[in-house]
Amino acid sequence: MIGILGGGQLGRMLCLAAAKLGHRTVVLDPDAQAPAAQVCSVFLPAAYDDPEALDRLAALADVVTYEFENVPLLAVSALADRVPVFPGQLALRTAQDRLVEKRFLNDAGIPTTRYLPLDRAADLDAVVAELGGTVIVKTRRLGYDGKGQARVVGPVGLAGARSLFVELGADPDGPDQPDEGHLIAEALVDFEGELSVIGARDARGGVVCFAPTRNVHREGILATSSVPSGWDAPVEDAAVAYTTALLEAFGYVGVLGLELFVLADRHDGPRLVANEFAPRVHNSGHWTETACVVSQFEQHIRVIAGGSVVDPGWHSACEMTNLIGHDVDRVPEFLAVPRTSVHLYGKVEVRPGRKMGHVTRLL
Ligand code: ATP
Ligand code: MG
Repeated sequence: MIGILGGGQLGRMLCLAAAKLGHRTVVLDPDAQAPAAQVCSVFLPAAYDDPEALDRLAALADVVTYEFENVPLLAVSALADRVPVFPGQLALRTAQDRLVEKRFLNDAGIPTTRYLPLDRAADLDAVVAELGGTVIVKTRRLGYDGKGQARVVGPVGLAGARSLFVELGADPDGPDQPDEGHLIAEALVDFEGELSVIGARDARGGVVCFAPTRNVHREGILATSSVPSGWDAPVEDAAVAYTTALLEAFGYVGVLGLELFVLADRHDGPRLVANEFAPRVHNSGHWTETACVVSQFEQHIRVIAGGSVVDPGWHSACEMTNLIGHDVDRVPEFLAVPRTSVHLYGKVEVRPGRKMGHVTRLL
């Protein structure tokens, strides 16, 4: 019995992969309509920190995993006292704070864009100047799909800085405790493109990465992922080496996604810098379900259930397109396209910006 914290589309696809291998699943999610509720063996509709629900999950599950990085650490550590939880808490804690995450990446030898903590509105103009004049300010915690971010060009003055802090939910006068700041400023990366690698590590130390993937975002949300990436071998090899280094730095067990920027050739220094990682299966790996014998979801389930990583058997070039909001109305059209797999998440309500499903076309 595999326990999963979070019942969104990633949880749903983990359940399907687990069922394929003969496992049962128990999913905890506060939303009674969560996509995974329709496909798991036992569904626990409750808050992530609900003690009774966590008790039931610990009693039922032989191993626990999570499908998103914002599950409360306290809930995970309470579970980890009773049942193995993969990936481990170091990776989860690191991924929950963009500042801690970037420092960890750098300590593991993985370059990132330059960044600074941004604790007070009064510091903004100096931080922007220090980082080259254009920055992306992000909330350190809880951002996803480009939410909680703002681009700042040049000096904005104190009043402008204060309203930016308020817009991002941060106290313009700074945190009560040092190191509890709300925001990070990152130098804007002038990138040629975006790349990600989905990698897996097993408890014996075996590591396997899926083919590096080229990603295109629209309005901060992943639009398409395709393989092969089209970048040259040095870029792809570096991406895989960084992913392997990260998996090893954590002593990781499970699947992880590392997002990277490929810099234009004209820059000095590394051609590749990391953006962030996700301690879980990743949207840019959905193509593996159609173009590999063993998908990212199956690789993750195999490994957390005590198995070894395997060569996934990638067999076809492909492009995955997210169905966002009313894109889902075009499903009848996609169903008529040859060599194309349609995957819907069973979400009841269509909302703008909401990921409703994806389509993978073999090329
Ligand atoms: P997601 O959930 O899609 O991963 P997120 O909210 O975690 O998004 P990021 O991954 O940090 O946010 O940023 C989303 C996208 O915004 C990136 O994939 C990239 O296209 C752009 N972006 C983020 N940071 C930078 C940067 N420093 N320079 C240039 N572009 C950036
Ligand atoms: Mg991202």
